Amino acid sequence: MSTRCLICESSAVLSKEAVGTLVMLASVIGGFMNAARRLSDPEAASPEVKPINLEQVLGFVTQGIELAQRQWAENQPFLQDARRFQFMQHDCLCLRCGALFNRAPEPELNPDSGVG
Ligand SMILES: [Zn+2]
Repeated sequence: MSTRCLICESSAVLSKEAVGTLVMLASVIGGFMNAARRLSDPEAASPEVKPINLEQVLGFVTQGIELAQRQWAENQPFLQDARRFQFMQHDCLCLRCGALFNRAPEPELNPDSGVG
């Protein structure tokens, strides 16, 4: 079940953790885009398309991961600012009405409760 806004009941709720995931995803995409840009050299612009061999693919993946890690580190100030100024001390931000709230705590499963 998705988290709903406590004010407007919208399901367009972004959690603090999800922001971290989005920044991580953007970092990975950015890293691989930079790796692809490095891979494309003047030879690649020739009309003859050469197939990429396995070694090149693995090199691209390795470089993409390295650049994604660098991008992730560079995006930390953005993530810290988003969490600090958009979420403040709360867990969730409603993208519809802007409400900030904390998730309700999960009910504990206690076999002793309600018995007796
Ligand atoms: Zn709302």
